Formats: sequence, C-alpha cells, structure tokens
Amino acid sequence: MALVESKLQIGAASHREVIPAGEPWMGTVKRGQYFRILDLEGNQAVDTLFYRADTIEERYSATDTIRAQGNIYLTTGTALLSNDCNTMLTITADTCGRHDTLGGACSAESNTVRYALEKRHMHSCRDNFLVALARWGARYGRDFGKRDLASNINFFMNVPVMPQGQLRFADGISSAGRYVEMRAEMDVTVLISNCPQLNNPCNAYNPTPVEVMVWEG
Ligand SMILES: [Zn+2]
Repeated sequence: MALVESKLQIGAASHREVIPAGEPWMGTVKRGQYFRILDLEGNQAVDTLFYRADTIEERYSATDTIRAQGNIYLTTGTALLSNDCNTMLTITADTCGRHDTLGGACSAESNTVRYALEKRHMHSCRDNFLVALARWGARYGRDFGKRDLASNINFFMNVPVMPQGQLRFADGISSAGRYVEMRAEMDVTVLISNCPQLNNPCNAYNPTPVEVMVWEG
C-alpha cells in the first residue's frame, strides 16, 4: 500500500482538538475544508460515522463506498460515498495505509457474544454513538437514536480479509504520529467514538487519545 503525506502544515490548521481515550466527539466540517485524524500514541481505533450536515437521513454508506472503488480497504483516493451515492469526503493523505469499514463498532451486545457475559457493562463505541446522537437530536428537539446508526469506518483498524473471506481482527499497523486526512465535498457532521474497547487488539488493549484538525480549503 502506498503511503501519502499531506502538504498541509500543522501551524496553519484552523482548529485542533484532542479526543480523550474512549470518548465520543462530534463536529462539523464544511465543504472544501480538510479534516485530519491523528493517531497520537499508536494503534488506536477511531470509529467514525458521517452525516450530511443539514439532514441526518443522508449518511456514509460502507456498501456504496466499497462497490464504487472495487476494494474493501479505505486509503488515499477513496471517495467516501453516502447512501444517496454522493461523495461526502475524499481521502487525500494517509500515512497509516489501512482503515477498515467492515468490522463494525463494538457494543455491549457484541462484547458479551465475543468475549464473556461479564463484559456487558464495559463501555463501547455503540454507546458513545448513541450518547452523541441523543445530544445532537436534543439541539433540534428531535429524537436521534438507534435508527440513525449506520455501518461505520474504523480508522487505523486492521481487519484483513483472508483468501476464503474470513475477517480477522489483527494487531494494528498504525503507530504514534500516523494520520488520515480527507477533504469534505459537502458540509458533513462527523461523529467519532474514540474506541474504549479492552478485549481485542484493535487499540492494543489500551485506549489512547487522538487529535482532530481542520484546515480551510
Ligand atoms: Zn469500539
């Protein structure tokens, strides 16, 4: 896989914000702006959903994105498509080289099925998404929840597909300082769960903070 560095300078970013380990984050990126996610300490999974900023009905679609590019991995050049087949963002730089959109987000339910019943109380990405969606909806007097969840992207997560089609949740290949950057092709609301998972190697069993940055186009 070819790694592509960005020409954007950190000092020129118009917004920088650290997302603490295990926490949700929501923000808006305007059309033409560049949005970067920086893996500060390495091997952190950044579960991400994108919505059209002015309507939650249009959202990132994993199946349309995979079909359009004929490849299951996301990297530089990938157009992230919506369920209406509009390009929401285009990945413009990637120094990690591997991002998953098949593995889904961890949840209390999947933790009990995959690991043990005693894991049910543990914090999960699905809980993070639902909390952030509820806060978003409250701003508009609307009830955003489970029906507004879609298949997500797991930035920096390594889920190779084996020759017979099996998915493997493998050790990460990201490291401190690696990043993925994308240009917004429409105004998008970004919803991130900085994965709190402690049971699989997606974040090296050690959730760590990441940083998001925005540049004007
Ligand atoms: Zn997770």
